[in-house]
Amino acid sequence: MSDTKVALVSGGSRGIGRAIVLRLAQDGFDVGFCYRSAEGPATQVAKEAQEFGGRVLPVQVDVSQGEETRAWVARAEEELGGVDVVVTSAGITRDGPLVLTDEAAWDEVIRTNMGGVYHLCRAAVFGMMKRRSGCIVTISSVAGVYGNAAQTNYSASKAGIIGFTRALAKEVGGHGVRANVVAPGLIGTDMTDKLSEQARRRLTEAIALKRFGRPEEVAELVAFLSSDRAQYITGSVIEIHGGIAI
Ligand code: NDP
Repeated sequence: MSDTKVALVSGGSRGIGRAIVLRLAQDGFDVGFCYRSAEGPATQVAKEAQEFGGRVLPVQVDVSQGEETRAWVARAEEELGGVDVVVTSAGITRDGPLVLTDEAAWDEVIRTNMGGVYHLCRAAVFGMMKRRSGCIVTISSVAGVYGNAAQTNYSASKAGIIGFTRALAKEVGGHGVRANVVAPGLIGTDMTDKLSEQARRRLTEAIALKRFGRPEEVAELVAFLSSDRAQYITGSVIEIHGGIAI
């Protein structure tokens, strides 16, 4: 087994997760990542990440499913080695006003966004505690900090991630493991491509920097939190939103 550090990223095939996979590979990590269904983008990300010289392991996993997620972590530990960094980026939206949000839309978002964080961290953290070293970065959202209209399910799931991560930081800090939250504002990905032109214009106007963020800008923050440069940072919620929530 090599001495290279190992990172696991959920939802690494597109958007913010993709940028994180590439950035951590560039920083010298071996990277395992998962995606739910779209194999084409995952294969392409793996190819690009491998160009940085490390090992890359893409696996199809639905993080809302505990058994699949545990099997993914076990396989990554077997093939890449002990996991040093976990980044939970897999997430979905099923937007609508509460009066139109049915149980399926509620359950799917909570199971994927919050359940996925539980399953992945639960599977990976014990190995970190045993090695007395590790770093977890969960991707929440400004919706989880401030709430967004027509996103009660999503905002609840993202607020849950903040509570989870802070609790975990207190629980495992004494074992040498850090846990932090990154809460992005509007970032240009497939998720925000769904917005109408009118909504996009209105939202851009509300951002102090007058533009959506780029996935690479979030990846830069995640790379910092994952590194030894951030060794005294734990239990923090770091917002990155170009000034939308001020
Ligand atoms: P995208 O929709 O662009 O990408 C989502 C990624 O997550 C894909 O790789 C997708 O895989 C994967 N994924 C979705 N569901 C599952 C699942 N059940 N199991 C495993 N993988 C899954 O999203 P973004 O990059 O925009 O968002 C990434 C994270 O950042 C999310 O948690 C999101 O809530 C959060 N965020 C995004 C913001 C934005 O403005 N974009 C703002 C704030 C937070 P596949 O391709 O196979 O479907």
